[in-house]
Amino acid sequence: MSQTETHTFQAEIQQVLDIVIHSLYTDREIFVRELVSNAADACEKLRFVQSGGTGPVHQPDVEPGIRITTDDAAGTLTIADTGIGMTRDELVENLGTIAHSGTRKFLRGVAENRKAETQLIGQFGVGFYSAFMVAKKVVVRTRSFQPDSAGWRWSSEGAGGYTIEPAGDLPRGTEIVLELKDDAKEFATPASLERIVRRYSNFVSFPIEVGGTRLNTVQAIWARSKSEVKEEEYQEFYRYVGHDAEAPMLRLHFSADAPLSIQALLFVPARSFEMLAMGRVDSEVNLHCRKVLIEPKAKGLFPDWLRFLKGVVDSEDLPLNVSRERMQDSELLKKLNRALTNRFLKFLAEEAEKNPDTYARFFAEYQRFIKEGVLSDPDHRDALAKLLSFESSATEPGKHTSLAEYAKRMPADQTEICFLLATNRETALGSPYYEVFQSRGHEVLLVSEPIDEFVLDRLHEFDGKKIVAAEKADLSVPDAQPAEGQLSEPEATGLAEWLKTTLGDAVGEVRVSKRLVGSPAVVLEADRFMTASMKRTLKTMQRDVEGLPESAPEFEINPRHALVSRLEKARHSDPDLAAKAAAQLLDNARLSAGLLEDPRAMLGRINELLERVLAPK
Ligand code: ADP
Ligand code: MG
Repeated sequence: MSQTETHTFQAEIQQVLDIVIHSLYTDREIFVRELVSNAADACEKLRFVQSGGTGPVHQPDVEPGIRITTDDAAGTLTIADTGIGMTRDELVENLGTIAHSGTRKFLRGVAENRKAETQLIGQFGVGFYSAFMVAKKVVVRTRSFQPDSAGWRWSSEGAGGYTIEPAGDLPRGTEIVLELKDDAKEFATPASLERIVRRYSNFVSFPIEVGGTRLNTVQAIWARSKSEVKEEEYQEFYRYVGHDAEAPMLRLHFSADAPLSIQALLFVPARSFEMLAMGRVDSEVNLHCRKVLIEPKAKGLFPDWLRFLKGVVDSEDLPLNVSRERMQDSELLKKLNRALTNRFLKFLAEEAEKNPDTYARFFAEYQRFIKEGVLSDPDHRDALAKLLSFESSATEPGKHTSLAEYAKRMPADQTEICFLLATNRETALGSPYYEVFQSRGHEVLLVSEPIDEFVLDRLHEFDGKKIVAAEKADLSVPDAQPAEGQLSEPEATGLAEWLKTTLGDAVGEVRVSKRLVGSPAVVLEADRFMTASMKRTLKTMQRDVEGLPESAPEFEINPRHALVSRLEKARHSDPDLAAKAAAQLLDNARLSAGLLEDPRAMLGRINELLERVLAPK
């Protein structure tokens, strides 16, 4: 007597099946993820039933687990689990009705106070049908955990419907056999299955065997609480996700419930791979939903400037069934990005506060990225500004200070945060631009890379204090005793006028300086918004920048300097020599500002001047 019952699918099923097969998923291999997730859910339900002690279980000693086997010759793939199994009615309800999730129903039946214990994956009720992307026929043999249950066989070729018949005495759990389509035979080899399982299901909590080999041995430690994870486990996990033999520099393991449910384990590698001249790196943070991989190296999870991070983000709020392309522009991803970025910034700020040495190492290695963030990410600019640090005239050589610390040290008569770009500390502190700060006891940030100027300029202010380039600061040396031989005011103005006439187009305005102490003269960029070096950098980036006219620098002379007072005398007694000295004085100032493009041009003049100096009296 045949007990085979033939059922047609629900009316809409053909349509839904079409959507699932042809457009819901972008990668066919996703069906493995879906079936393994179902098997893992079945195991999780069994674990839950057993731990609840709600009654006897068939084959109580059989551990929940998943086994995948392939038959190349027959072109079949079998995914078997020792999970909860299905009764006849459950088969009809769960596999005969699209968009019916037995898992969601199960979860509804779980008492409120035990919900948090379950780690179920499914809830949409369409994943199972992804099998038909690759299979011409699917056969399910299953036996429920309930002691009085029997085995059942369900089979379907997709479109038409399905049949159900008794299958005698089966072991507990479910076995799904896929007869692969001709164009999907690649899924009948252990190697391809192993690759796919490792990719998507490597962190499923139950053991998965493919062709006799246990695969998922690395655990999803991000889903555990911090206190339960051992240091070695972190190290091992990092080697796994980071592909890095060196231990990470920083680690952030956290979970959040609002506004999104997030579990994340993030690492900062000991070295920046990008700075090792390996070219631009891509973020290596994998996005999971309930331990199942949604997107490796997920795009858009973090802002670009955090692309050095490695690790895992897991969010239960992600729709597991949605394909990757659609994840990218979703509102959810933006929310996730915001939450993760803010959390990581908070972590860095705490680190800077609590472990300054570690933070200093981090900053030394990753400052480029923080600065890139300041320049490119207005949403996080304020938080990033707090993470910046620079060497300054008040720090020991090689040590850094934050803007907040700098601001705290500012004396009452200092209103602006000032920075000076120079190739190194000695050059900066010896530069004419530093003199006025030294004389007033004002601290100056010492920066050595053009990007720093752009970063500080972009910030514009910190803690309500304007940030300005040292050469743009409107400061004067406090009144001092007049120097011997110092030029009187009319003399100094007269000299300035003469210099303008003599030097012509090589200079803009010539002024008597209030900012110089030990240097005879200084040049200043005429553009109010730019420093000389910024202009130089812009010029090298774009040859003919519109709106960057070739302007001559302003020239300031120090009336207290002997060289200047002698120049004043010489312009009357030996105008020819004075003109040469004036040109040299300007070149010296340009040299010190880094603005002299071809110093060879002045060598002839120096030689001539030397000749005059050495002439026998
Ligand atoms: P979802 O997993 O989102 O609930 P699926 O279409 O993947 O939806 O699966 C539908 C239902 O079929 C599941 O909710 C579950 O009740 C049942 N099911 C699928 N595979 C198994 C399995 N291996 N063991 C037991 N039940 C299963
Ligand atoms: Mg599922």
